[in-house]
Amino acid sequence: MLPSLLALAAAVPAVLGCARHDNYRPLPHFGKRQITTNPGRTVTDWAYEASYNWGRINETYRECQIGTQQSPIALSLNQGLSQRHLPSFDGYTNSSGSQNVTGNFYNWGYGPAFTLHHEDGVWDTLPSMTFDNETVYLRGWHIHSPADHTVGGDRSKAELHYVHVDEEGHERAVLAIRLDPSVSSSPFFAQLPPMIGFNETEVQMGVVLNPALALEGVDNFQEFWTYKGSLTSPPCHEGIRFFVARNILFTNVEEMQALLGASTYSARAEQEVWRHEINV
Ligand SMILES: [Zn+2]
Repeated sequence: MLPSLLALAAAVPAVLGCARHDNYRPLPHFGKRQITTNPGRTVTDWAYEASYNWGRINETYRECQIGTQQSPIALSLNQGLSQRHLPSFDGYTNSSGSQNVTGNFYNWGYGPAFTLHHEDGVWDTLPSMTFDNETVYLRGWHIHSPADHTVGGDRSKAELHYVHVDEEGHERAVLAIRLDPSVSSSPFFAQLPPMIGFNETEVQMGVVLNPALALEGVDNFQEFWTYKGSLTSPPCHEGIRFFVARNILFTNVEEMQALLGASTYSARAEQEVWRHEINV
């Protein structure tokens, strides 16, 4: 049935961003697993396992092949850390002034994900980040495994992406946090409900969580690399600034195993550094 599958793939709009980020509706039964008609993953004609090939699959994926600021890239302390584009956060808070948000917890088909509730088309009520006099708003997060970015050749087990959009909902910036196992429980992961499997993309759960806990786990991005990058999946659009925290967010072994158990391979091959202007 390959032809009909291909036809289906062609009929489905391309996945936007690393994960699909629709305006998820608040669920009628908050805190319960619910089956919805809004799956976290659509049928796609590309695969992470063959990311070198995206440019020839579909002509709308041309940027994956010819782009000059493609993500992810290899990072290293030899590049130094950024002294510019310092992000400041508003509406995130924590260290007890905790600010919770509501949203839908789900699996984007490759790992855990979360989308914040907001009014249709209204983004500026969400937690925000400001850099270079531009303010962007937290639309949601998702996790890749293994990590997209290596540092000094080392690849973490997973990477958390906080996706920020401009006032019109276009993706503008990603906070990237590398994840590895250690000894202590992570307050960010401890607040999550039980994981939803990667085959359960139609399941969603309304939850309350504190997004600041992940930022606190990496010293609130006081040390970071930044560069001009792209979506890490087709159509690989550019114009997205990445901030990669120097620190790693550590979980305990059980939290990492639960995360990996709900994940599938979702790291794009690293791209050659070209016009990324790392830390510039
Ligand atoms: Zn991503």
